[in-house]
Amino acid sequence: MDSHNHFLANESSLIDPFGRTIDYLRLSVTDRCNLRCTYCMAEDMTFLPRAQILSLEELRDVATAFVDLGVKKIRLTGGEPLIRRDIIKLVSAIASLPGLEEVTMTTNGMLLSKMAQPLKDAGLGRINISVDSLKADRFKELTRLGDLDQWHKSIRVAKESGFNKIKLNTVILAGFNDDEVLDLAHYAVDNEMDISFIEEMPLGAISSHERSETLVTSDQVREQLERNFSLVDSVETTGGPSRYLQVVGSKSKIGFISPMSNNFCSSCNRVRMTAEGRFLLCLGNENSMDLRHVMRSHPGDSVLLKAKIVEALHSKPERHHFDPNRTDIVRFMNMTGG
Ligand code: SAM
Ligand code: SF4
Repeated sequence: MDSHNHFLANESSLIDPFGRTIDYLRLSVTDRCNLRCTYCMAEDMTFLPRAQILSLEELRDVATAFVDLGVKKIRLTGGEPLIRRDIIKLVSAIASLPGLEEVTMTTNGMLLSKMAQPLKDAGLGRINISVDSLKADRFKELTRLGDLDQWHKSIRVAKESGFNKIKLNTVILAGFNDDEVLDLAHYAVDNEMDISFIEEMPLGAISSHERSETLVTSDQVREQLERNFSLVDSVETTGGPSRYLQVVGSKSKIGFISPMSNNFCSSCNRVRMTAEGRFLLCLGNENSMDLRHVMRSHPGDSVLLKAKIVEALHSKPERHHFDPNRTDIVRFMNMTGG
């Protein structure tokens, strides 16, 4: 039986044509954001009209379909997920889906001081909070609109709200924050958090810097860290394209997300939904299916929705081909859901 037939014969699990089991969905709930990070967005962005964004019910239906098909983990993202109206209701609806093991979120943290506890109470399992600098002026420069004091306040509340483990996400850019690798890692260790260092990807055309000049590879970050921390391989795996090291003598792990320097596509376990309902098979390719159209032309037809998801998975590419010198993918990260 070839992999294609095998896939059709077993529709309760999502297995792509390269034999990879997909059990992780990243669901973007909005393309809008209260920040404008230089590497993620242009300064002057046009956002989608609200009617084009999936409604709360559509987001819930799509999540339900994926979970029925075997997805075990859903990460809510954006844009900034916390500016989406009724996000708490959505977390609660998704957290109660039978079969789902975990609902998580990636946020810039700005609104967490008000929302961390309600999110925890609604069933959010873990939370990733982005931060690229611990210097107030630089934080402001990189995010264009952010306020580091507010971020710290949010972190304090998030820690008190009882999340198991908070993970920080940091994009390191040469000449902007590559001198803060150690400070950021120390901050994570001192606060018993994990931290992932992410290589900048060439998603969307930006004017603030040349991405080919700012790329810092995970190996370069790791070299800096190994001079100051004792790091050992961690057993933890997300089953996806990130690698973790345990900081010896601490509760913290350091992760490396290396889409530019290291290709982990062969172990990819994830797919994405954009805020407008495009089912995106790979971050670095445009292969997708318009599931909003499916849902709006056949409201309530969950059988059709699941069949379309299964059909679309046939076109999951084998790998991405990112090149920091080229912006082949014009879609910005806020559209995609990081
Ligand atoms: N607004 C939320 C936040 O910032 O955490 C969630 C969405 S954001 C797109 C998710 C993650 O993608 C953030 O950690 C951000 O730093 C990262 N990101 C954005 N643009 C990126 C790029 N071009 N390359 C690599 N990571 C990027
Ligand atoms: Fe907004 Fe997150 Fe993009 Fe920054 S990285 S502009 S916080 S979506």
